[in-house]
Amino acid sequence: MPHVLVLNASYEPLGVVSTRRALILVLNHKAVSLEDSGVTLHSATSAVTAPSVVRLTRFVRVPFRGPVPLTRRALFARDHGRCVYCGAAATSVDHVIPRSRGGQHRWDNVVAACRRCNHMKADRHLTELGWRMKRPPAPPSGLAWRIIGTGIKDPRWRPYLEPYGGTDQFRDFEHHVHTDHAGAPVPLGRSRPVHRGEPESVIA
Ligand SMILES: [Zn+2]
Repeated sequence: MPHVLVLNASYEPLGVVSTRRALILVLNHKAVSLEDSGVTLHSATSAVTAPSVVRLTRFVRVPFRGPVPLTRRALFARDHGRCVYCGAAATSVDHVIPRSRGGQHRWDNVVAACRRCNHMKADRHLTELGWRMKRPPAPPSGLAWRIIGTGIKDPRWRPYLEPYGGTDQFRDFEHHVHTDHAGAPVPLGRSRPVHRGEPESVIA
């Protein structure tokens, strides 16, 4: 099932929901469709075009959100799915300062790596190997990362996400049209308590 990008009334990206949930928002006039997905859904009596991007009709105040969650998917997106050491396709997560030597599992110490480099590096520091990185790893910032981190890449979302960070990542979108993705999308805080005025209460 395709997913739908939800924007606040201010156009800030809020999250990703199922097509079904997005349609309910539109039918209840809580959101308007900005982009069609090209998919037509049929009921017994009517047919409706499923949206790809919707915008809430009323602004919802979003409480401060912490750093972008460090997930394998988000990390691979940051590093473009490439090994930061050699540029081959990344298959694993490497701790720049090895965990066995006190390195932490944080955005500024993890990188995408290929199996070979990860194996060669083992528990050594870069200086011990004479390896270099183009730039030190850093946490991603910008609202778009909430969406990029889901791993869902719909090129129709690009113009809506681009103003909100992760610019480099969007060229990767073009290569992932309609790819299936594993795992559930970010359910806009289903596991978190719902506060008044949070998008959850609108989208739920
Ligand atoms: Zn490599």
